[in-house]
Amino acid sequence: MHEMSLMESVVEIACETAAQHGATGIRVIRLDVGRLSHVDPDALMFCYDAIRRGSLAEDAALEINRIAGEGWCLDCEKTVPLEERFGACPECGRSRVQMTAGDELKIRDLEVI
Ligand SMILES: [Zn+2]
Repeated sequence: MHEMSLMESVVEIACETAAQHGATGIRVIRLDVGRLSHVDPDALMFCYDAIRRGSLAEDAALEINRIAGEGWCLDCEKTVPLEERFGACPECGRSRVQMTAGDELKIRDLEVI
């Protein structure tokens, strides 16, 4: 399950960042998770519960912010919503769409104590 290693990295980065700022704990971790990324938010939550114990993030809430998929259609020359990774443009029906959003997994911000 790759969510486990993803969450390990997230918690590690969050704890390092909090420690650098002299925090004694983390209150909230906010994550951006794209809808087109192959990551299951429920699995992230489950893994997070296992990983945070004993760390600065032990009592931190995890908030997952889903980012909608978007792409740049080369034919329409504009940004269009994308339902799937290599989906067709909803306006012209062609598949020359470059994904510009929806694939992210990153820490948006932290609230520390
Ligand atoms: Zn198009």
